[in-house]
Amino acid sequence: MGKALFWVTIFIVVIFVTRLLAIQAAKKRRPPPQAPSNQTAAPAGSEEMVRCAHCGVHLPRSEASLLGQNTWCSPAHAKLGARDRDST
Ligand SMILES: [Zn+2]
Repeated sequence: MGKALFWVTIFIVVIFVTRLLAIQAAKKRRPPPQAPSNQTAAPAGSEEMVRCAHCGVHLPRSEASLLGQNTWCSPAHAKLGARDRDST
């Protein structure tokens, strides 16, 4: 009687291990979705925003032109120079 129980236990353990191995193999075949290739630069929101000294538009620092003490949205506005927006 004890021997039968022993073999039943072995049978259950073998089934259990086989299923575990099958699950592991399936996981290896289908890896979890990884982060997409880093084609995009810095994530949004992490970059400092600067203001064009001429027209006052805000833009990321990497896209702004830095000339003198001011930042500009474009070289054209850098040429035009700073404009006091409050006096319009
Ligand atoms: Zn501008």
